[in-house]
Amino acid sequence: MIREELDQPILKLPGVGPKTSGKLAALGYTTIRELLDLLPRGYEDRRTILPLSNALGSPPPGVRIVTVVEILDHQFFGPRGNLKIVVRDGSARATLVCFGRNFLTGTLPIGKFFLLSGLFLYRYNEIQATSFETEPLSPSVGAELETWVQSGGPAPVLPPSRQFGGILPRYSNLGGIGEAKVRFLVDHALETYARHLEDPLPHWLIDKKKLLPYTVALGQIHRPNHLSEVTQARTRLAYQELFLLQLGLAWQATQRKKLPKAKVVLEVPSLFESPSVKKILPSLGFSLTKDQVRVLEEFEKDLRGSGIMGRLLQGDVGSGKTIVGFLTAAYLADQGQQSVFMAPTELLARQHADNAHRFLSPAGLTVAFLSGGLSGANRSRLLEGLKAGRIHVLVGTHAVFTKDVEFHSLGLSIVDEQHRFGVLQRTALQKKGERVHLLLMSATPIPRTLAMTVYGDLEVSTLGEKPPGRRDIETHLARMGNEKKVYDFVRKQLEQGRQAYFVYPRIEGDSSSDDEPQPTPEIKSAEAMFEHLGKMFHNFRLGLIHGRLKEDEKTRTMAAFSQGDIDLLVSTTVVEVGVDVANATCMVIEHAERFGLAALHQLRGRVGRSELQSYCFLVYHEPLTETGKERLRIMKETNDGFLLAEKDLELRGPGDIQGIAQSGFLQFTYANLGTDMKIMNEARKDAFALLVNDPGLQRPEHSNLRKILEY
Ligand code: ADP
Ligand code: MG
Repeated sequence: MIREELDQPILKLPGVGPKTSGKLAALGYTTIRELLDLLPRGYEDRRTILPLSNALGSPPPGVRIVTVVEILDHQFFGPRGNLKIVVRDGSARATLVCFGRNFLTGTLPIGKFFLLSGLFLYRYNEIQATSFETEPLSPSVGAELETWVQSGGPAPVLPPSRQFGGILPRYSNLGGIGEAKVRFLVDHALETYARHLEDPLPHWLIDKKKLLPYTVALGQIHRPNHLSEVTQARTRLAYQELFLLQLGLAWQATQRKKLPKAKVVLEVPSLFESPSVKKILPSLGFSLTKDQVRVLEEFEKDLRGSGIMGRLLQGDVGSGKTIVGFLTAAYLADQGQQSVFMAPTELLARQHADNAHRFLSPAGLTVAFLSGGLSGANRSRLLEGLKAGRIHVLVGTHAVFTKDVEFHSLGLSIVDEQHRFGVLQRTALQKKGERVHLLLMSATPIPRTLAMTVYGDLEVSTLGEKPPGRRDIETHLARMGNEKKVYDFVRKQLEQGRQAYFVYPRIEGDSSSDDEPQPTPEIKSAEAMFEHLGKMFHNFRLGLIHGRLKEDEKTRTMAAFSQGDIDLLVSTTVVEVGVDVANATCMVIEHAERFGLAALHQLRGRVGRSELQSYCFLVYHEPLTETGKERLRIMKETNDGFLLAEKDLELRGPGDIQGIAQSGFLQFTYANLGTDMKIMNEARKDAFALLVNDPGLQRPEHSNLRKILEY
């Protein structure tokens, strides 16, 4: 079986209906491959019994218990008649508190035995858990365990079963799909699809580096027999990830060298003397910062030379990268060249298209927006205009990659928020013209030491200073329970005509999954809070936006917010990237402990986009992990994206699997740049050497690599 088969939709797995696959798709998981690349956020050792008595006297956050229990009683409490299940194991009694899950009386009947695990703590004179997992004890293996439950003594050995008796991977709760279900899906994907996969790396390389075979590594990372297997597997997968990145960079560098040099360097005016640029600048309403001018001059040198520009424009959120891109496009338009401007989300692309139109029309330049939803006659008309050269700048999402998108003469491709795109993806547009300059833009700065290894032969330009008059955003932390103060503050801002964002980690509140009962701590969701805030802020206009809404609905809401027709926007991280509404001065992020540093910084960057003082409130839920605490502290202390990126690397200490998963400054699945630089350097050497020996990847043993690169 080859790797492409992993690109089948998750819908193919048993037990996955449109509901589950919809939830997964909203989080960006659509294929079996993406499911397999889901890194466990940790592991739980369920090989031995950790009896209930361990939780005696244990304060929050409590202790992990793995045991066998007998169900003793069902009780109901409180005005809503919530269910409490009394259980015992061979060491103590405990209570399972089941808010809103009274159906569990049927699942966990009195007198039956179950394997049980959960986080237990001691309060109100009893051992309690609100979050737990169970599995029926099969009678064939249960006799000895049942005797222990009833008469105590030393705890027996747990027989292996689906969720117990081994080392269990822990997955994040995926948008309301419970962990047990995620585990089931991953297991199935491993069993049915991953088992027979060909290795993407050639055998000689695997031998030389003494790596685990691919399928073995995948199996071990999800289902290790020992924790040492996780390390081994992760190393293999990290090497592969970094090797493919480096091979991509090496490949890209060779391809760029093959591009023809300009025959004659045309006599073109300097950028600031170019007719379109001269018309646009006075109509901007602001003057460029010194940094913007310097960066444009750096571009100009490349663009007037005979070579081809390959540049990364780094600049913190709000530093004004977009206009730099537009002016570069205008400069090329004066030389008869078209530009394409690509953004990772439809929301952002549309915003760019509107701005491009506003900024470029004084020079008589034509901008078109290619949305994924555009079809029929409108689409044909757009494509025709593009091919005839009547359109100077095309703005869009991935949709611009499509085969039938042809240019008259494409001269520049600009990729915004480039870290959202793969290495090869971001250069794919270069195939749509003869000599296409490349400009990548990123608000997620990476430390200089890494730039070379991650960007290969691209040159880096940096926007350090922000537009004049910008004040630092004030960041405040608030414990959940104290959010009233935050809300009151925001209300005052709204009363002054300002606008606010409220961001939540998930879309829906109720996350009871399709089959098994799931432990779900109370997490605020965008939908539930939209209702709640609607009451609290009843004299203001609220909007709701999240990934599961239809494109045109998102667009309408976003447009209303940017025109000031919505005062308070409740959202998930869809507003994370690039959205620019100058009048918004408050960013409230609830459950801030659930976001990585990169996301927090990006979200905070949605405010502070004018001369108004802006505020960011990070509302967190206790208990916080050590890293969680550190993240919030750093956010409070600094607004500097470069510093944040470096801290982000530091915080990802050895073995900090969760840190890798949460971090977004550089998006790797398995590799950890805090600790894997050695692997990165090796992978780089190996990849470049391989291309020297087999430049076209023509040898049969490299055909898998070639397929991956071309794909
Ligand atoms: P980012 O670098 O995060 O992509 P943007 O390009 O969205 O930032 O710019 C942020 C805001 O600052 C935009 O509203 C933009 O029009 C404005 N802006 C850009 N350059 C300047 C400048 N030199 N002076 C004042 N405002 C500027
Ligand atoms: Mg931007």
